[in-house]
Amino acid sequence: MRIGVVGAGYVGLVAGTCLAEMGNHVHVVDVKSDVIATLRSGRVHYFEPGLEELLRRNQKDGRLRFGTDIGEMVRDAEYIFLAVGTPQAEDGSADLQYIEAAATAVAKAMTGYRCIIIKSTVPVGTNARIEALVRAQGRTDFDVVSNPEFLKEGAAIEDFMYPDRVVVGVRSTRAEQGMQSIYAPFVRTGRPIMVMDPESAEMAKYVSNALLASRISFMNEMANICQNVGADVDRVRQAVGSDRRIGSAFLFPGLGYGGSCFPKDVRALCRIAEKAGLPARMCEAIDSVNVAQRLVFVPAIEAALGGSVKDATIAFWGLAFKPRTDDVREAPAIYLANALMDRGACVRAYDPEARVTAAREPGMNRATYYDNAYEVLDGADALVIATEWNEFRCADFDRLKALLKRPFVFDGRNVFDIALAAKKGLRVWSIGRAMQG
Ligand code: NAD
Repeated sequence: MRIGVVGAGYVGLVAGTCLAEMGNHVHVVDVKSDVIATLRSGRVHYFEPGLEELLRRNQKDGRLRFGTDIGEMVRDAEYIFLAVGTPQAEDGSADLQYIEAAATAVAKAMTGYRCIIIKSTVPVGTNARIEALVRAQGRTDFDVVSNPEFLKEGAAIEDFMYPDRVVVGVRSTRAEQGMQSIYAPFVRTGRPIMVMDPESAEMAKYVSNALLASRISFMNEMANICQNVGADVDRVRQAVGSDRRIGSAFLFPGLGYGGSCFPKDVRALCRIAEKAGLPARMCEAIDSVNVAQRLVFVPAIEAALGGSVKDATIAFWGLAFKPRTDDVREAPAIYLANALMDRGACVRAYDPEARVTAAREPGMNRATYYDNAYEVLDGADALVIATEWNEFRCADFDRLKALLKRPFVFDGRNVFDIALAAKKGLRVWSIGRAMQG
């Protein structure tokens, strides 16, 4: 099939590359010419495990190409995925300016039937809005499909290649058949392609993200209670997660969720409810618990350092919002580091992948960045673990103790064996467990 993708970001590039891998001819366009130049040279402008190899192979075989000319892509492709950003607007709702601009550009260039597939996360009613917008350009021979994406950064290829389910919101049989053909190679193991109306498809994505975010915020609230009543959240989590009705996923407490999806999607859902004249009390709470959780260590760090972090040196392990990505959008580490620097601390940081992206975040040019997990510790007053990269799990506690000026560790992702760390002379604060050492 001849497929176009608008937006070469975390979603569009993965989708385009995986679709090419299945033998389709895929043309990916982006407004950023530097991004397209990088992709044309066979490199990926962000970190996603396995993506560059897959991209190169499909590019070499002539199934995957990149450009900035949306008109050329539209002439080329019958199925066009819109995978542009839908960031948070000032009022918390989803900002639809990019998707509308992309849809208008597609509509202007259309000649004959086109199937426009909304892959971006968009509020209910956007499908109908895009359809009206394309019609307003004088086009009649087209379909607009809602096909939300559920991939996770860090495991994006696996998720796209082997989806738990594919959600397709359609109004016409022609579009449904096209979507079945596109996704058939991805669901050979029997995973379902769920066909529904576009409004339900749009809502399914928000409800999934809000439910996942709710488990994280709920567990973070429980962790804070555990800590104050002398319970160990790890034990509690294991006991609770063993219940088959509950399950063990997404119950790990920490410094809160981040990334380009959960925070903005939970807030957008609040605005969707508000627009419908309904309260979104649960969603508001998910967000406010998360906002507080990002800074939960601030008073503890201040207390450990004698009441203030002024002129203290705090080392960070991890900046990305989660491991296996360089994405720092809404990353708790960025909020915590900025809060400490605002209070006069010097922050130095190490992250295996997110150093460059983190340094571009507001306020983060005040931090210094290191290429090595141990160099960053030399002479620091405390270590904060903000992302659970695997390489932090089996840290050399003797080395940590020798390098840190004071043996204080704030494990914001509960990655350390804190009893063992304490035996080695470290004092460890974590989330939802008693301080050790
Ligand atoms: P992104 O910011 O990484 O990429 C978006 C790309 O679109 C950018 O490169 C931008 O230059 C390009 N773009 C914007 N307007 C354009 C236009 N008119 N023409 C061509 N290119 C244009 O965003 P992302 O993380 O890939 O997210 C895209 C959408 O997918 C969002 O709605 C997001 O909520 C959703 N989503 C993201 C993830 C994720 O893990 N990142 C997962 C599921 C869904």
